Amino acid sequence: MNQKSKKTNSRNLVIYTLVIIALCAALFAINQASKGKNETNQTIAEAPPIASQPVMGEEESKVSIVEFGDYKCPSCKAWGEQVWPKLKKDFIDSGKASFSYVNTLFHGEESNLGALAGEAILKNNPDNFWDFHKALFDEQPEVNHDGLWITEEKLLEVAKSAVPGVDLERFKQDMKSSDMKSLVDLDQQLVKQFNIQQTPTIMINNVVIANPFDYAAITATIEQELVK
Ligand code: CA
Repeated sequence: MNQKSKKTNSRNLVIYTLVIIALCAALFAINQASKGKNETNQTIAEAPPIASQPVMGEEESKVSIVEFGDYKCPSCKAWGEQVWPKLKKDFIDSGKASFSYVNTLFHGEESNLGALAGEAILKNNPDNFWDFHKALFDEQPEVNHDGLWITEEKLLEVAKSAVPGVDLERFKQDMKSSDMKSLVDLDQQLVKQFNIQQTPTIMINNVVIANPFDYAAITATIEQELVK
């Protein structure tokens, strides 16, 4: 090998090395960008079915909003107070979207009891379901929400005050019935099927909202779905 070809070889080596470094940098950048994308909304194959669920607004509307929630979850209470009223006013009352709630049992027996109570009110007093739903979240303590508060006694008290004419004896029996248990089980199947990891999880048709408190992201998704 002469001096000239040695020089060319080492120049080529430098070029190859630089190309490899550039490729590594590009791959790193792509990887970082895709990590960032995990924070944006996720579109999945299908929207959750809302048969047997409480539905507020136009059931046939183009946009179905589903909350996976838990009466024991403080973020769900906060979402209901901060985001939901705007959502209701802007999209549900106007008939553009429907809203449904699926029980998600992430806090043990109290979550289960709250869910059974909700299903019992939905069955016997469907027109008052959302009043009961809100009244139960209102009862969640601001501090020490992990302490025991969803008890049969509390549920009877909430039903009595939020649901005029409620048959408390029937309500009590229904909470223990296999029919209500089946409805709560159905909700848990949906939680599993849609791989719900946190509450509240908000889905707009088949789009999972990354941050349920980001109202701009919610409205943008609804608007997108409305023009589809
Ligand atoms: Ca349900």
